[in-house]
Amino acid sequence: MLDMDLGVLLPSLIPSLQSVYVLVFYFVYLAVAGEILPGKVIRGVVLSDGSQLRYRCNGLFTLTLLVAILGICAKLGIVSPLVVADRGLELLSATFIFCVLVTLALDVSGRSSLDKSSSLKPHVSGNLVHDWWFGIQLNPQFLSIDLKFLFVKAGMMGWLLINLSILAKSVQDGSLSQSMILYQIFCAIYILDYFVHEEYMTSTWDIIAERLGFMLVFGDLFWIPFTFSIQGWWLLHNKVELTVPAIVANCLVFLTGYMVFRGANTQKHIFKKNPKTPIWGKPPVVVGGKLLASGFWGIARHCNYLGDLMLALSFSLPCGISSPIPYFYPIYLLILLIWRERRDEEKCAEKYKEIWADYLRRVPYRILPYVY
Ligand code: NDP
Repeated sequence: MLDMDLGVLLPSLIPSLQSVYVLVFYFVYLAVAGEILPGKVIRGVVLSDGSQLRYRCNGLFTLTLLVAILGICAKLGIVSPLVVADRGLELLSATFIFCVLVTLALDVSGRSSLDKSSSLKPHVSGNLVHDWWFGIQLNPQFLSIDLKFLFVKAGMMGWLLINLSILAKSVQDGSLSQSMILYQIFCAIYILDYFVHEEYMTSTWDIIAERLGFMLVFGDLFWIPFTFSIQGWWLLHNKVELTVPAIVANCLVFLTGYMVFRGANTQKHIFKKNPKTPIWGKPPVVVGGKLLASGFWGIARHCNYLGDLMLALSFSLPCGISSPIPYFYPIYLLILLIWRERRDEEKCAEKYKEIWADYLRRVPYRILPYVY
């Protein structure tokens, strides 16, 4: 796909009816499954008006059922497992058009809302482009479905479905390589782990602070599935020979990244629920009764970002170092997380004041100890 010339590329960007059907089926399935399949119901953070939203965390069930349904349909010849790999560009442009249409609809309905609650109150700056880009409402709903939660799920699941279709294509082509297997395994673990810990996402910045505009919708539905899978597309067209030490090193980067990422996020989650829970077998070091300063949170102020960056690197290393294209995701994530870490520090400095200043003295590094 990546080495197509423009004459082939442009026509294949025009969405066919089939790609529209794929998207419609996908969103209808996710919306219905999200509402009816069993899952732990989690209360979101307390919003400024004291209200709390409820999130049904059944993503893992929704995803495994979908993969099982698609697997059976593929076996029966009802759908082709290659549908995404063969129609990647069409699906990409259809998804982009969907993002534009849905955010225009959100803009119109948000402006006309008379709701005064924190989640639905309209925020209108008067600048049309700004409002469309950043969104009008915090947690808009459609048929009482929380659209933000739905889109976050759709993006992460979409990434796995694209990868599985790429895998099927490489098996069919006879080009399945060790690199492809490593890339697929690492991403699948990361995505499944995301849904195992889906409840943690209900307290992330995107869910609690960002309004639902083009920036977030595009990020969830287009950016995550289509750009995080670049390594897979690239491996379909490029052969890489990995040595045994390279495979071992790649696995070590993945495992260390996973341990730091999941360990740091879990420690913070547990600390917020019960600040007395031991960290690494010892009573936690707590600053001002509010901030955790031991475990991963005593090593650097955003060790979770460090783990995420190592994981991102491990998804690209199977592609070798002959091209920068497969390194798009880790490079993008590095820029995003450095920017996000700065914004988060500003927010925390304002919220925690002298407690935050004390935390900075105890834990001087932002992401990578002794470097940054
Ligand atoms: P964090 O999970 O790091 O949350 C930051 C918040 O945690 C702060 O605002 C503060 O909130 C609280 N906090 C900070 N330090 C402490 C401390 N020492 N003790 C207790 N609480 C603390 O940020 P994100 O929501 O940005 O990220 C969540 C995960 O998502 C991360 O692992 C990140 O890597 C990942 N992510 C992945 C992306 C991708 O594209 N792959 C993009 C963005 C994020 P409070 O005011 O509530 O105390």
